[in-house]
Amino acid sequence: MPSPIETVAALIRDAKRIVVFTGAGISAESGIPTFRDPMTGIWAHHDPEKLETADAFRKDAALVWGWYMWRRAHVAGAVPNAAHLAIAQLARVREVTVVTQNIDDLHARAGSTDVIHLHGSLAQPKCFACHRTPAALPFENPVTSEGLRIEPPRCPRCNGKLRPGVVWFGENLPAAAWKRAVLAAKECDVLLSIGTSGVVFPAAEIPIVAHHAGACVVHINPAQVAQPSSREFCLIGRAAEHVPALVSLLGPADLPS
Ligand code: NAD
Ligand code: ZN
Repeated sequence: MPSPIETVAALIRDAKRIVVFTGAGISAESGIPTFRDPMTGIWAHHDPEKLETADAFRKDAALVWGWYMWRRAHVAGAVPNAAHLAIAQLARVREVTVVTQNIDDLHARAGSTDVIHLHGSLAQPKCFACHRTPAALPFENPVTSEGLRIEPPRCPRCNGKLRPGVVWFGENLPAAAWKRAVLAAKECDVLLSIGTSGVVFPAAEIPIVAHHAGACVVHINPAQVAQPSSREFCLIGRAAEHVPALVSLLGPADLPS
């Protein structure tokens, strides 16, 4: 009887197209806290659901900009972990589309090239007034102390305040990214759902779309986030443990050296 991880490795071996759907849990082992981790330091007094809204930015743009610049510095100091690296390695032997809810750049820095950011990116600001996206801001002065209130820079076109180019609570997902993600989910044979609680919609629909379209769905998470069924599997544990183990089970015949 094959073990759960061997069963999943066999699915991947037989798959042509794979979607890797990731959430904050995959970056947890790079030292970036998930949404469910308690906030620390000065941010412990803030509710992320209140900081990550257009209303919060309207009320106190400097507080919100400072929070994101601090997060950006934190991400810049982090490195991709074994799970990010194994996904990039998998893309050398299978067609892999990464659909991430994360706003960090750890997939790209691990070497993944086809990455769809459903919730935007910490590195790409946009104008709060005219919604244009200027060139990504140079990262000159990393904000290393938390809780700094920093006035956001101004839009080069309309002089409006720049805001982080991320999807805030109550906002729509970027349409083109969403369309591409749904298409990839409909066309894949296997979807690996890694490090996501699956409660933030509409992003959490992506594994459901893949399942309805006939794909096998595999959840990799220390928590039991789904009930296994004939086409749904759970590998309980950390991403940095299971994902490299899965890829190594593909064997030398499947992986270039
Ligand atoms: P979430 O915080 O709701 O859930 C995190 C999940 O990761 C949980 O199910 C947890 O059990 C799991 N997890 C924890 N450690 C893990 C590990 N080592 N390996 C595998 N799984 C692990 O995060 P979410 O589902 O991504 O949704 C919340 C929102 O948080 C997203 O919209 C995302 O944009 C945002 N977010 C992003 C980042 C980031 O960019 N790195 C960080 C925090 C929050
Ligand atoms: Zn503008």
